Amino acid sequence: MNTTQINVEQEEKMVNDEFQSLLDAYLSTKHRKRVDIITKAFNFAKHAHKGVRRLSGEPYIMHPIAVAKIVCCEIGLGSTSICSALLHDVVEDTEYTVEDIENMFGPKIAQIVDGLTKISGGIFGEHASAQAENFKKLLLTMSDDIRVILIKIADRLHNMRTLGSQAVNKQYKIAGETLYLYAPLANRLGLNTIKTELEDLSFKFEHPEEYQAISQKLAATQEERDILFDDFAAPIRAELDSLGISYEIKQRVKSPYSIWRKMQTKHIPFEEIYDILAVRIIFEPEEIDTELNDCFNIYVKLSKIYTSHPDRTRDWVSHPKANGYQALHVTLMSKQGEWIEVQIRSRRMDDIAEKGFAAHWKYKDGEKTENASEMELDKWLATIKEILDDPQPDAMDFLDTIKLNLFASEIFVFTPKGELRTMPAGSTTLDFAFSIHTFVGSHCIGAKVNHKLVPINHKLNSGDQVEILTSKSVRPTREWLNIATTAKATTKILSILRKEEREARKKGEEILDEFFQKNDIVKDTLAIDKLCSVHGVAKSDALYVAIAEGKILLGREDIDALKEKAEVIGWKKLFSFGKKTKKQHKKAKETVGPDFDKKKLLSLTEDSVQNKYILCDYCKPIPGDTVMGYIDDDRHIVIHKLQCPTAERLKANRGNRVLGAKWEMNRTMLFPVSIYVKGFDKLGLLHKMTEVISHLHGVNIRKLEVECDDGIFECTIQMFVHDTKEVDEIINSLREIPDVKEATRI
Ligand code: MN
Repeated sequence: MNTTQINVEQEEKMVNDEFQSLLDAYLSTKHRKRVDIITKAFNFAKHAHKGVRRLSGEPYIMHPIAVAKIVCCEIGLGSTSICSALLHDVVEDTEYTVEDIENMFGPKIAQIVDGLTKISGGIFGEHASAQAENFKKLLLTMSDDIRVILIKIADRLHNMRTLGSQAVNKQYKIAGETLYLYAPLANRLGLNTIKTELEDLSFKFEHPEEYQAISQKLAATQEERDILFDDFAAPIRAELDSLGISYEIKQRVKSPYSIWRKMQTKHIPFEEIYDILAVRIIFEPEEIDTELNDCFNIYVKLSKIYTSHPDRTRDWVSHPKANGYQALHVTLMSKQGEWIEVQIRSRRMDDIAEKGFAAHWKYKDGEKTENASEMELDKWLATIKEILDDPQPDAMDFLDTIKLNLFASEIFVFTPKGELRTMPAGSTTLDFAFSIHTFVGSHCIGAKVNHKLVPINHKLNSGDQVEILTSKSVRPTREWLNIATTAKATTKILSILRKEEREARKKGEEILDEFFQKNDIVKDTLAIDKLCSVHGVAKSDALYVAIAEGKILLGREDIDALKEKAEVIGWKKLFSFGKKTKKQHKKAKETVGPDFDKKKLLSLTEDSVQNKYILCDYCKPIPGDTVMGYIDDDRHIVIHKLQCPTAERLKANRGNRVLGAKWEMNRTMLFPVSIYVKGFDKLGLLHKMTEVISHLHGVNIRKLEVECDDGIFECTIQMFVHDTKEVDEIINSLREIPDVKEATRI
């Protein structure tokens, strides 16, 4: 035997072993034992992908097996989904068609594979020009059969786990999409474990150093937490033992990504994050009916040992979250004086919290169970369908609307009849009105919240009782878009406004045409531009609307102005002037050609930053920041910080234009940065700060803005530096000044 043969045999064994471990996992679940069809799907997929390898060098079939394993073990789905997962790339990547799949495996599996093929290559397919279109397709298939999206999430999870073999620009694209859409989707479907892993993996690829630093600190502080946990749990164990229930008590450690998020949003170091440790109590109820009572009984026992924080009790048991999450959260004061969150759940609730209730939903092979959380999912899918039914002209707007809906956490409000409704946190009375009915929403004039009159922009709180007041004469206006926060209300208002504007434009144009005819004026762009400039409106559409609404009355002066054919410096000329300078500035930079290699890392040197690339004006990257490149519509390359809000959207929506980049500077160029400082307003504080910056570090201050209020001192300092290292040193020195409480780069 030669080496190639040995490799073939070894690989064959590896593939078969991996498949066997999938079967073993499947057989240990409660699902029907449909080993035959799963084996058939495996053999067919193996044959179809024969000879193809992944970037890692592995035989391709290892990927579908891994996805099937996630579907089985981590999401808890059955044989139909396992087969679909094994076959998920067959139609996309091989000669076989959906019909072939249907002939061999029946219509259900074929339909799921078809759904997966339509949305393949990531939500935003490799060749897709209209990414939003693809995402729409995904959501549509999802509302038909939720298994499509669950398998898609499993596929993405495995791709993220093996992302290391991709080029950097692909890593940014995939990690960006994952953070932007897949993690929120997983969260919305209650797949908590998967959501957390997706976030951590994206974080690891986008900010490897920060990820390392946090992981190391977590490992270094684990012993401390073990001691704290043992101390805290011992008296709880004693009490629960006396209750005679069987339970498990364990630590829950905050994920690196959530820790990092908190550090970023609150501008605090790792050491100041106090909720890294939480405690989870999982119990087996005697009967399913006693679950709720058991939760509260346990809580009563706990509050005998520790003081509980009055404002931090969250009852997700009687009011599950829309993603199905149920648990009772309380925060208790440990003997060492630290607040610790305790999450109390039954085994069933824990299962749902970790794997998602979608798995237990509708597909329990025939039997359909109805509980509150399942109905919530149905409602959510119905909302998604409604948004999809409303044509949205702007693709990016559409994505943001959907995303808004994915991220929101919930509040509970009541109708006057006492009916409970779930709304996203931050909802206004207007949102609530639209959630009842479009008609109620579009005529909403205000509401009675807990019997008090409130305006349409009033923010609702959990527990509010809301009675919507309507008036026939009320119509939606542009301002309503600032008041509405839910996707549903926003889309409805937009579509009403668009329809009305369309009608108004038509009417206005008709009036104008008539006016032109009557006064013998030729209707051309010059005439329209002139009228725009006379009445101070920006463009023809706005002119028509204003005419229709009676805000512009055409008369003698208009005729005079139009007939005097003298030149007019209209708004257009004035306007284009400002734009031109920016374009010119861009023109000075190089553009990329069609044969540009996107896999190559951009090298950011003094020369290239000045002559080739444009630095994002918003996030203002400096050497040392993790950055990426982006090929914009004019084929210029723009450099963004990875966390720049624009970059976050671009990675997810225009991922094919994202490039990896690294700094290679000689510290001869200076970049602008701003530092924010907050502290107690003591005499000489400002002097000390400026001394630290200009004398200790030799950096020139460019601008200083100071505000003092009630003894609190706040200040923004602009300066020029070489890189992040210099900024970090300055910030550290500033933090060492007594009375300075906070110093961060902004
Ligand atoms: Mn795949």
